[in-house]
Amino acid sequence: MRFACLMYHFLTESRLPERQLYGVPVEVLRRHLDLIVGRALPVLLPAELQTADSFSLVISFDDADKSVIALGAEELNKRGLRAVMFVPTAQVGSRGTASPSDLRRWCAMGHAVGSHTRTHRDLRRLTPREVRREIRDSKAELEEMVGRAVGSLAIPYGACDRRIVAQALLAGYSRVFTSWPGYGATGAAVSGRFSILGSTRASAVERILDRRALYMPQRFLYGLKRAIGSRAYEAFRRRLVSVHKCIAARAARERSEGLTIG
Ligand SMILES: [Zn+2]
Repeated sequence: MRFACLMYHFLTESRLPERQLYGVPVEVLRRHLDLIVGRALPVLLPAELQTADSFSLVISFDDADKSVIALGAEELNKRGLRAVMFVPTAQVGSRGTASPSDLRRWCAMGHAVGSHTRTHRDLRRLTPREVRREIRDSKAELEEMVGRAVGSLAIPYGACDRRIVAQALLAGYSRVFTSWPGYGATGAAVSGRFSILGSTRASAVERILDRRALYMPQRFLYGLKRAIGSRAYEAFRRRLVSVHKCIAARAARERSEGLTIG
């Protein structure tokens, strides 16, 4: 059975500058959650995917930002929706990151936690021993913090390979989430996700929920980011956005001046 996993990061009370990609204003989250409720899709936690018998949805938040609990929990709870937060355990309690008691409160509300490794480094650059520690110790630390079993792992930066997946399965995880755009299969150990940014339009979320997401462009951009590095990619993306805005503004001007039709 297929499912879609939405990947959010942190939430904000108001709109952020364009360059702060990952912050999603809470009013935008509300719109997304209302769309989800409107579709009447089963919204599951990772541990429940195994028994899903229809297309379903997982809502995930990476990095355990405090804003998810401060602003997001209430919006989810009001709508009877549950989500998973992926936690880099060595950062718990540091500035801006949820504390162990925040995480326990989150779980007590019916939500779940998964590991996001210990220190949020690119696992492909670490030695096998370091990878093992990141994956295995974060699971144990998180289980200790919240007092329940942790079965899912989200790989930081989506930086994943076969060796890392093998280590995760060996450490006892049953599901590994990457950042590769696309739908997941409930019976597979590794699943991609759809990244939701502050700039993601509601129509893009609707397409994901309707199983007609256009993920090839996202995959192209994701591949490009991996190839040229985050910094060069952000410069390229900003340039692309400004060119797009320029074209859209010109088209709007021409339309208002009656130069083009439509
Ligand atoms: Zn992360």
